Amino acid sequence: MKKPALFLALAVLVAVLITMIGRNPPDLDMLRGYLAGLEARMAENPLTVAAIFFAAYVAVTALSLPLAVWMTLAAGALFGFWWGLVLVSFASTTGATLAFLASRYLLSDWVHEKLGNRLQTIDEGMERDGAFYLFTLRLIPAIPFFAINLLMGLTPIRALTFYLVSQAGMLAGTAVYVNAGTQLAQLESLSGILSLPLILSFVLLGIFPWIAKFILGLVKRRRAYVGWDRPSRYDRNLIVIGAGAAGLVSAYIAAAVKAKVTLIESHKMGGDCLNYGCVPSKALIKSAKLAHQMRHADHYGLTATTPEFSFRKVFERIHAVVKAIEPHDSVERYEGLGVEVLQGHAKLIDPWTVEITGADGKVQRLTTRSVILATGAAPFVPPLPGLEEVGHLTSDTLWEEMVTRDAAPKRLVVLGGGPIGCELAQSFARLGSDVIQIEMLPRILIREDEEVSDLVKASMETDGVTVLTGHKATSLGKTGKTKWIEVEADGDTRKIEFDDILVAVGRAARLKGYGLEELGIETGKVIETNEYLETKYPNILAAGDVAGPYQFTHTAAHQAWFASVNALFGKFKRFKADYRVIPWATFTDPEVARVGLNEQEAREKGIPHEVTRYGIDDLDRAIADGTAHGFVKVLTPPGKDRILGVTIAGEHAGDLMAEFVFAMKHGLGLNKILGTIHTYPTLAEANKFAAGEWRKAHVNARALSLLERFHAWRRG
Ligand SMILES: Cc1cc2nc3c(=O)[nH]c(=O)nc-3n(C[C@H](O)[C@H](O)[C@H](O)COP(=O)(O)OP(=O)(O)OC[C@H]3O[C@@H](n4cnc5c(N)ncnc54)[C@H](O)[C@@H]3O)c2cc1C
Repeated sequence: MKKPALFLALAVLVAVLITMIGRNPPDLDMLRGYLAGLEARMAENPLTVAAIFFAAYVAVTALSLPLAVWMTLAAGALFGFWWGLVLVSFASTTGATLAFLASRYLLSDWVHEKLGNRLQTIDEGMERDGAFYLFTLRLIPAIPFFAINLLMGLTPIRALTFYLVSQAGMLAGTAVYVNAGTQLAQLESLSGILSLPLILSFVLLGIFPWIAKFILGLVKRRRAYVGWDRPSRYDRNLIVIGAGAAGLVSAYIAAAVKAKVTLIESHKMGGDCLNYGCVPSKALIKSAKLAHQMRHADHYGLTATTPEFSFRKVFERIHAVVKAIEPHDSVERYEGLGVEVLQGHAKLIDPWTVEITGADGKVQRLTTRSVILATGAAPFVPPLPGLEEVGHLTSDTLWEEMVTRDAAPKRLVVLGGGPIGCELAQSFARLGSDVIQIEMLPRILIREDEEVSDLVKASMETDGVTVLTGHKATSLGKTGKTKWIEVEADGDTRKIEFDDILVAVGRAARLKGYGLEELGIETGKVIETNEYLETKYPNILAAGDVAGPYQFTHTAAHQAWFASVNALFGKFKRFKADYRVIPWATFTDPEVARVGLNEQEAREKGIPHEVTRYGIDDLDRAIADGTAHGFVKVLTPPGKDRILGVTIAGEHAGDLMAEFVFAMKHGLGLNKILGTIHTYPTLAEANKFAAGEWRKAHVNARALSLLERFHAWRRG
């Protein structure tokens, strides 16, 4: 039987039983009379009576019938306090667990589909603290037990935890009613059983675990500081170490709320994004794209031409772009905003003291209530034999090195098939290098769906990049003046000669040299923080690449809000970093943008989904622009228009994605996107057409056939 039918059958059965009970509601006299009738059987065969009673109790609680109180009283009267307590405790917990499991089986999927993202916070809270919540609810008599069973079934709490906590939580209340049952002859009404002081004691018992948890948390937080001398006063409210995206935004927010904040940067204001990352790479991509378009100008009715250019000038332009954006992140701007900016290397001395060594060697110490570590990440260089001797480029050194060159590297090896490797490999190929890209994994852009990797790979190969996936670099060396890299694939090894090698195999968080080790701040691949971005010292927080889990400028800025607010106001209210809707883009041609789930993740996580695709090859504006390739792919729960995730491959995919990010963030579905006017002819129409594809796939065929008949009737 299908779930809805089973649910309906059960609901009808329970409704009928409750109506029957309501017509002839139990009272104390009725109970006494009923028990008197059982006396003989009880004397003859107490075990059978106990077994039948147990089964009946389980059924009553499993079906959520309003008889549990009466049966608990009966247990006291029939079996005495201890046996009554044992029977009722196990029967009620078993019945409650059956109701819980039924709710989980019949309703949980449906409720999650309906409410989607909105349940995520509750689910996360339940996974973490479900046992506490359940225990508290069980001890508060005002909350009906059956409601708790059914609601808990909708949460991710484990069944065994539910059983054990329920049994413990219900014990005190059960004991009170079983005990009252032993005095049934004298009992005049039910209302006397639970006096106000008793109810209050239960409530106190219910909130006790929370008080204990709070105190334990407080002790744990305090314990981290044992052995350190807290200053009696502080020079600053906040010190931020690192002036990249995370540090700049943290300092900005602190200054905006009038905190005394110092931002310390040892190198360049703006960090990696401005100086070595997003900005120079996007400037390079633009020049490379123009060169590509010139080569293919015949697609637009112009004469195709081999671009003639000074390689040095391309990189001079890149440096000029960085210069033009520099004022946004400059010392002057931030000082104007009320941030004190110090140039120097910062080091944590204790949880409240930061030592700054200036470029001139001058050392000063500042005390602060809170610190935000926004020290970023640096290119990871794998320990490959021969790599150091041969010499290599990274995103850190590339820009300064290339601006000294008159021509693009003749033969360039790009090690790594992630977003940075792909963006740079394609750009250098378009600027004239023979590029060989080496990736150990079976495909490039491994986090994206396979078709995305294939699409980007095909496009890069058209640009002349040799993409070697499934190839592992094993060593490097020089034969005479010729540099080579040895790669291994399918058991074979071969040497590839090159002039330059760019290492782009990932970026490692900066974790050394500024006091983390000395303070015992835990690190793995990144600084370990809790959901409030606090380290083991709650006044020391981390944000950006150094905190993970993402390595994007926009996630660094997003975390900065949580880190700065928690650093400044965490004593009163803390906010958990929210990673529900995180978009990103890889700026290859075609661009690839993503938010939420893609197909491979949905499959891995076993999340039921439907896929709706719209091919950009059909889009008027893309056809006019000569960019009619790629797709918009939207994942939704089966039959629903709620957006689980979107992948867009195509021209300006990163910009197009903004609409879906907004929709997901605010819980808007595809119907809302379909109902929104999109300017004609724009690439953004692709989003609306993707929503239209979903709509077409979900038209009600029956309603349409009725309409057809209606129109036929109207024609006469
Ligand atoms: C080639 C490339 C392209 C990229 N493209 C994109 C993109 O298109 N979109 C995107 O979102 N992201 C992109 N990124 C990633 C993006 O640059 C990073 O995610 C972002 O810069 C992280 O910011 P952050 O503040 O965490 O760290 P950072 O920008 O690295 O800033 C950390 C700062 O801390 C300073 N510092 C470290 N230790 C100390 C200390 N002890 N004392 C004082 N100062 C210290 C460092 O000098 C640095 O300036 C790209 C990265 C690269 C390399």
